[in-house]
Amino acid sequence: MKEIVCKLLVIGAGPGGYICAIRAGQLGVDTVIVEAVKAGGTCLNIGCIPSKALIHAAEEFEKVRHMAGGESPLGISVEAPKLNLAATVAWKDGIVGRLNSGVLGLLRKAKVKIVHGRAKFRDGKTVEVETETGMQVIRAEAVVIATGSQPVELPSLPFGGPVISSTEALSLPAVPQKLVVVGGGYIGLELGTAFAKMGSAVTVVEAARQILPQYDADLVRPVSKRLGELGVRVLTEAKAKGLSGDGGALVIETVDGKEQSLPADKVLVTVGRKPRTEGWGLDELDLARAGHFLLIDDQCRTSMRGVYAIGDITGEPMLAHRAMAQGEMVAEIVAGKKRAWDKRCIPAVCFTDPEIVTAGLSPDEARAQGHDIRIGQFPFSANGRAMTMLAEDGFVRVVARTDTNLVLGLQAVGAGVSELSSAFALAIEMGARLEDIAATVHAHPTRSEGLQEAAMKALGHALHI
Ligand code: FAD
Ligand code: NAD
Repeated sequence: MKEIVCKLLVIGAGPGGYICAIRAGQLGVDTVIVEAVKAGGTCLNIGCIPSKALIHAAEEFEKVRHMAGGESPLGISVEAPKLNLAATVAWKDGIVGRLNSGVLGLLRKAKVKIVHGRAKFRDGKTVEVETETGMQVIRAEAVVIATGSQPVELPSLPFGGPVISSTEALSLPAVPQKLVVVGGGYIGLELGTAFAKMGSAVTVVEAARQILPQYDADLVRPVSKRLGELGVRVLTEAKAKGLSGDGGALVIETVDGKEQSLPADKVLVTVGRKPRTEGWGLDELDLARAGHFLLIDDQCRTSMRGVYAIGDITGEPMLAHRAMAQGEMVAEIVAGKKRAWDKRCIPAVCFTDPEIVTAGLSPDEARAQGHDIRIGQFPFSANGRAMTMLAEDGFVRVVARTDTNLVLGLQAVGAGVSELSSAFALAIEMGARLEDIAATVHAHPTRSEGLQEAAMKALGHALHI
């Protein structure tokens, strides 16, 4: 049996783990990272990146199909396009492969030792890994748990056969004719929209009163409108009960308590993700929990000395950039630097059509925290660049304190607004006031002018509405 002794052991090479290991390596910390499947984790292999590749391909296909239907106001006409999903998936796999090798290269460059295999805790500072070349024991002074999350399975709809998770949806051999999506959250709507654009007849079954229940109704309205245009049927306050006897349909209970059968070639279940805590000795460590997730403090320390946790295993928001920021911070703490989680916001983007971006507090959240607020909202229908791009749906909204004009939150819905996420986060992180945003020269013609106009609107002197 081989044994490695190191200063830092990182378990899991997703965005949290690999960033932590790279930064620790850069700081000269003797670091080992263990990965059971593939470097890059959920995000790079079966999450953020492959989903955005499919979403982009679907968007391009739909644009051309729209033009072929003679519906383009731009005066462009084309022959009816065809989609070869196997080729699209191969292109997506190529991107994933390039990024995967890139992460391994960065880890090597930072002199991190990579061990391939599944780690199992022996005690809080020791793991054993079954590798291709035999059992490897690793002992460390500090351990970072970064094992991420996995899809929630509904007891009445176990994965298998026609019932698939996002992982299978990202690598289907052909576009399903009829797709039923259970769960109208991030994944269900991002992928449901993509399949609708690729030609599937899509039905979304959502248990809550609205799709994307984490966002306010104003932000969700343009997304609902577009789903309607794409022919996506949305059933809210509906519950999935199970597959029909022949497996060719999903039986649901609708809001009025009646049963309905929705024919489906595939049923994509996207009802959330749960932390990967079971089956590898973590339970025996008996770390303090926050619900199912590991409880951490503002330095990502768990209840056991020298054991840290980062990323999805530590709970909401389960976003790659949060995991990365935690990973970078923990590496610096292990290297002896003084750091604590002091971020003012974690921006979130939903890559629906149109996209939604949020940073900081929504109007309701600000009020709930006792703030007296002013709100400025600027519609893209009054933005020249948006008009030239046929992207007039949506708006930018700013939430600020009435007394100081300090910006508490920024939200937008509209085509391509994901790229506003950095301006939003920067404004909040830098403690911007409405006057700072209003006084910043924004390039013309861009949709980002909506941000400046929203701030001006909140100050009572918008120029273009
Ligand atoms: P993970 O990425 O889950 O990585 C954990 C790693 O640990 C995995 O590689 C796993 O194999 C490994 N591991 C687990 N157990 C062991 C063990 N015992 N031993 C060794 N290795 C182990 N987030 C965004 O911010 N933007 C997006 O656009 C976005 N899109 C998404 C789309 C989809 C379809 C999905 C599913 C998720 C998406 N997410 C997105 C969420 C994002 O993927 C996660 O927040 C992120 O991957 C979490 O990173 P992590 O490092 O905590 O864990
Ligand atoms: P989610 O929490 O975003 O959405 C789940 C949805 O399923 C909710 O709307 C919920 O009301 C609904 N639901 C729950 N149980 C149900 C049931 N029995 N029947 C019908 N509906 C039900 O979860 P997700 O879409 O699975 O995504 C998981 C996580 O992955 C997200 O929370 C997010 O953190 C991350 N993610 C992020 C992005 C991004 O940043 N763009 C993209 C994809 C995933």
